[in-house]
Amino acid sequence: MISASIKGKFEAIIGKENMMESQAQRLVYSYDATPNVQALPDLVLAPRSTQEVVNIVNVCREEKIPIVPRGSGSNLCAGTVPIAGGVVLLFKHMNRILEVDEDNLTVTVQPGVITQNLIEAVERRGLFYPPDPSSMKISTIGGNINENSGGLRGLKYGVTADYVMGLEAVLANGEIIRTGGKLAKDVAGYNLTQLLVGSEGTLAIITEATLKLIPKPESKKTMLALYENIDAAAQSVSKIIAAQMIPATLEFLDQPTLQAVEDFSQIGLPTDVEAVLLIEQDGTKEVVARDVEKMAAICTESGAVSVKIAATAEEAEALTTARRAALSALARLKPTTILEDATVPRSEIANMVKAINEIAEKHQVKICTFGHAGDGNLHPTCPTDARDEEEMARVEAAFADIFDQAIRLGGTITGEHGVGMVKAPYLEWKVGSAGIAVMKGIKQALDPQQILNPGKVFTEETRKRLVVST
Ligand SMILES: Cc1cc2nc3c(=O)[nH]c(=O)nc-3n(C[C@H](O)[C@H](O)[C@H](O)COP(=O)(O)OP(=O)(O)OC[C@H]3O[C@@H](n4cnc5c(N)ncnc54)[C@H](O)[C@@H]3O)c2cc1C
Repeated sequence: MISASIKGKFEAIIGKENMMESQAQRLVYSYDATPNVQALPDLVLAPRSTQEVVNIVNVCREEKIPIVPRGSGSNLCAGTVPIAGGVVLLFKHMNRILEVDEDNLTVTVQPGVITQNLIEAVERRGLFYPPDPSSMKISTIGGNINENSGGLRGLKYGVTADYVMGLEAVLANGEIIRTGGKLAKDVAGYNLTQLLVGSEGTLAIITEATLKLIPKPESKKTMLALYENIDAAAQSVSKIIAAQMIPATLEFLDQPTLQAVEDFSQIGLPTDVEAVLLIEQDGTKEVVARDVEKMAAICTESGAVSVKIAATAEEAEALTTARRAALSALARLKPTTILEDATVPRSEIANMVKAINEIAEKHQVKICTFGHAGDGNLHPTCPTDARDEEEMARVEAAFADIFDQAIRLGGTITGEHGVGMVKAPYLEWKVGSAGIAVMKGIKQALDPQQILNPGKVFTEETRKRLVVST
């Protein structure tokens, strides 16, 4: 509970119109895109400037009130659920693109900018911001930075971390720090910029970011390769990379996902094959033409039953849009959709997909798999019903097995969605107790009162590791 006198302090900082406290308003910010996790905040505040963020943090620090920074709440790890109550901080007013610097190839933005708006704004100037999470129509740059989000273009262009050059952030003690900048080279001290990237709102509140831009590729082509077995699809992935080509996009969809996507998007995708690769190459016209021809030949040699190159830009766009809609399409199947992002070295993709299917069979749950094949970043997705406790227990056991298997294959429990609350019990499996101790030490140094997004990343209840029969 936040007392009336403290609410008065917040109101003096941001004005009544930027404060939400009714039950209905708080309910809206009690959950995010993660199924089945909910907790009410005491108050929702929407500051308009870095100074207002500082003033809010100072009140929270004095009163030991938890602060949960929130972009669009599209994260899939319960990262913005205010589990300890307190204040949810919204960035809807801090949503401006402050500067596009064409000399230094940077863009400086406030955290509330919507990812797609940024991408479109720089593309209008012939520039390119590659990180493209499928949620980019709704996600914010603040959220992308804090989850270190990836996207379809991750294989060739990297993830958000590869584009964050400098940050302005408010610390838990109310001080403002500026890290990095527009410099291509800067080795002055520890790399605090990268420390804050992926920190899930637990180390500082990002109030401004300077991001790297690159020239926009001249052209692109998209193709679809169809397979009657997963091994052939996985072989194509390995052979394309071994042939020293890095496609801009190399996405995998299994048959059940394909069916759901086609039912949703109705663009004439084939649904009678076991797997599909969506491949895109960009660059100069000559390179794109050469690579697409070589990649098509590799897919056919590896056993693709059909390879189709999109004839027009519209057809290509329809294919990538359909892929981006995979989660929304699967979400129509059952009341609850649990999507994870277990990630393995790309050479292990076929083994991982087979293991996921065996685990689904073992626990008698339906799991559809799609994802960024080129990155080994898979999205095993379970359409289920949170009201069925017995089924939910089986789903949870299946995902524990999947995380365990990913680690056994040299992978990780999360490639892009973050740890938040839902994967905190598994973090130690990946980083070990020494890793947890280092991370807790960093947290303690930056946030000794534990007011920044408490209950995320760390948990008291590390899962006992199950033994997977493979
Ligand atoms: C349909 C769908 C598709 C998705 N596809 C992808 C995908 O392809 N790739 C991918 O990586 N993810 C994907 N996601 C997950 C999600 O969209 C990303 O994690 C995204 O970056 C979250 O952005 P957001 O603005 O919604 O942030 P939120 O969910 O609001 O917040 C995410 C985290 O950032 C913190 N945070 C937000 N703003 C700040 C700030 N200013 N300062 C400090 N901390 C802050 C929050 O506390 C939280 O821990 C998808 C989600 C959905 C629902």
